[in-house]
Amino acid sequence: MSTDTELIRLTAAELAAKIHSREVSAVEVTQAHLDRITQVDPAVHAFLHIAAEPALAAAAEVDAALAGGKPPASPLAGVPLALKDVFATSDMPTTCGSKILEGWRPPYDATVTARLRRAGVVILGKTNMDEFAMGSSTEHSAYGPTHNPWDTTRIPGGSGGGSAASLAAFEAPLAIGTDTGGSIRQPAAVTGTVGVKPTYGGVSRYGLVACASSLDQGGPCARTVLDAALLHEVIAGYDPLDSTSIDTPVPAVVEAARRGAGGDLRGLRVGVVSELGGEGYQPQVEASYRAALSTLESLGAELVTVSCPHFRYALAAYYLILPSEVSSNLARFDAMRYGLRVMPAPDASAEEVMAATREAGFGDEVKRRIMLGTYALSSGYYDAYYGKAQQVRTLIARDFTAAFGQVDVLVSPTAPTTAFPIGEKVDDPLAMYLNDLCTIPANMAGNAAMSVPSGLAESDGLPVGLQIMAPALGEAVMYRVAAAFEAARNAADGGPLIQRVNGLEATV
Ligand code: GLN
Repeated sequence: MSTDTELIRLTAAELAAKIHSREVSAVEVTQAHLDRITQVDPAVHAFLHIAAEPALAAAAEVDAALAGGKPPASPLAGVPLALKDVFATSDMPTTCGSKILEGWRPPYDATVTARLRRAGVVILGKTNMDEFAMGSSTEHSAYGPTHNPWDTTRIPGGSGGGSAASLAAFEAPLAIGTDTGGSIRQPAAVTGTVGVKPTYGGVSRYGLVACASSLDQGGPCARTVLDAALLHEVIAGYDPLDSTSIDTPVPAVVEAARRGAGGDLRGLRVGVVSELGGEGYQPQVEASYRAALSTLESLGAELVTVSCPHFRYALAAYYLILPSEVSSNLARFDAMRYGLRVMPAPDASAEEVMAATREAGFGDEVKRRIMLGTYALSSGYYDAYYGKAQQVRTLIARDFTAAFGQVDVLVSPTAPTTAFPIGEKVDDPLAMYLNDLCTIPANMAGNAAMSVPSGLAESDGLPVGLQIMAPALGEAVMYRVAAAFEAARNAADGGPLIQRVNGLEATV
């Protein structure tokens, strides 16, 4: 193994320690990851834009500051990261996986982007995604699909498949995603990585191109729970530029992850959601889930079965609320202000230009949701569809409140299946939507949730995720449980399974 190969296998925490003690330079670490991207990204296609020179310049700045005796700007200073292409970056394109924004460069940085830069985190580039974050497979990207590093004939999940795949392919030790209905957690599950949807309002949405504003939440993606926690603390916290940002201290998730790694969950009550899991789930996913429950019990947690009766309506209500918000948010792509402009004729009217641009610039899934949302919001239907869906949303939030009166966290499978083959569901929207059965309730209520690797399915050898859900601002207990579970899995598996990503080496 060359030194570079050893560097890309390290966790963000390990890389930071080596960079800060000046055992290796941030430039070397960045270069090792850029080399890896050059080597494997033609097979994976995690990235839409690679920012090699700005990344090396940012790394050199970190090295210079350390050489000058300054303390690291943050615990992650010098560590590379892959950023989902939905966050505004003033020095890179921001496409949201859409042709309508091809080549668009935002005039400013998103708050998340700015916080990463201030922390000395090195942004390697922008990652592929389903167009405007709508999808569960990254096949709805206008720039072609991302491939799952465990098996490149399969999907990496979505919408943040690029971010998750970049981690699983060892192209980056850290990534950022967004989760509106599961787009951080489901990709994490099917790529054997960790993905966290923080409490709604926990991470600023300023400069995050909106999908569905009442559901969208940015969050950390990593290969370990501790790395996710370190990144969480860098990006989270109050931002006056986002009116939904929560003005309270960021939960102490790094401390919680370190404590959890001790593997003691005695005194904690873990709720097993009776409506999630069971019939209809891939049998090996179900088997892995049952094994995960035993693991939690062996760590001292008390398992309690809880019923959340309205979770079964979450998917239906989500597919009214999300399209409604999408139809309104995406009206801003009007051919005048951003990106693409198609002129159907030299003397075309503004309406004709707008129609031609949206026809050419949006993909089928985006158009489908704009139409669904426009219909759901139209006069005469608003109360029957959007209004009813909002009532269901309240009932789901009440289910969570009642459950968290009894237990500290809730668990479920993250996704009903392992990674499916590319092409299998792309023409079947309902089958695609069912991927988010378990993840959507937390978005509807706004509480915190994450996915942590839960071993490999026996049948296909592909990763499975365990979802852990916590109350709003209950991230600390969630990370503690996740870290304990991760430590137990690693002990049972003889180390992190992600280190054994198969298939990829053969394809490069
Ligand atoms: N897969 C879900 C959807 O298509 C979730 C998307 C997301 O979280 N951005 O809407």
